[in-house]
Amino acid sequence: MSHRIDVAVLRNLVAAEIASQGWKVEARTEASGAITSLRSGVICASRGRAKVLVEIPPASTSISDVVARQAQHDKSRLRCLWLFSRPDFPLSPGLPAAFVGRTIAGGYVARLPGNGIPSESRSAQRETDWQQSLSLAELISAAFGGRFWYGTVREGRPATVRLDGEFTKCDACGEWTNLCRAIEVLSPYPGSHFALYQLEDVPAHLLGELMPANLAASKVGPIRKRYIREERSSRTANSCIRCGTPQPGPELVGRGGQLSPITQFEIMVSNRLATATALLPAARWRVSPAADSGTAKGQ
Ligand SMILES: [Zn+2]
Repeated sequence: MSHRIDVAVLRNLVAAEIASQGWKVEARTEASGAITSLRSGVICASRGRAKVLVEIPPASTSISDVVARQAQHDKSRLRCLWLFSRPDFPLSPGLPAAFVGRTIAGGYVARLPGNGIPSESRSAQRETDWQQSLSLAELISAAFGGRFWYGTVREGRPATVRLDGEFTKCDACGEWTNLCRAIEVLSPYPGSHFALYQLEDVPAHLLGELMPANLAASKVGPIRKRYIREERSSRTANSCIRCGTPQPGPELVGRGGQLSPITQFEIMVSNRLATATALLPAARWRVSPAADSGTAKGQ
């Protein structure tokens, strides 16, 4: 149904979009050793000292050629955006990529995949197979405007951390204490997804960042990874706000799964948090809409 992709036509269109973003587009002349099947659809863009490649491989190009080529770019420390006309490319933080197809009306659409559907099952036409569909111009403007990024919540942007849990009585001393069961990171930065961790799954090195120094006002006792003698194992545990006794894990509390918000606070997403949340299933390449007028740079 849809029209075929003509690499040369698409290349010129993309080059014009990049130029309209204030980047200089150069003819790509390469040293030998390049994989020749990929060469026709390469754009080299620069602005000041920044240099970015765009690769538009013919649909017949094998994924292994693409991966080899990306490895060359990594070696040369060159950033590269891949525009594929086949839908089955890998979703990877190391491969900034979008699918580009043609609409029935003859325009171009760019699509970004998520982890929900295996790459080999994606259909070019089925919009529900993709997490984000946008115009080619929007994609290029995002990629060359610092709004194309990989992850779940974006580094350097504000986020709200929300603690959910249950209010319960300490078995040891009878004091009412809040037990944190889950931590949610919600970012208002457009295009972000939320990150949700069960308390036990919060990476230990993030505990300090996701737990404010003093939660006593919210009746939450100290939370840390500790060895619990009775359970003969270590886990991230709540402690009683008054006596410090480690509190039961969620499986030991016979209250059903109903959690309530305990408290929330604002943070700036650190590199560490962005990196950790980029390992969650929701992580993918994302385009943030241009409405955002922030200052973060790069992809
Ligand atoms: Zn207690």
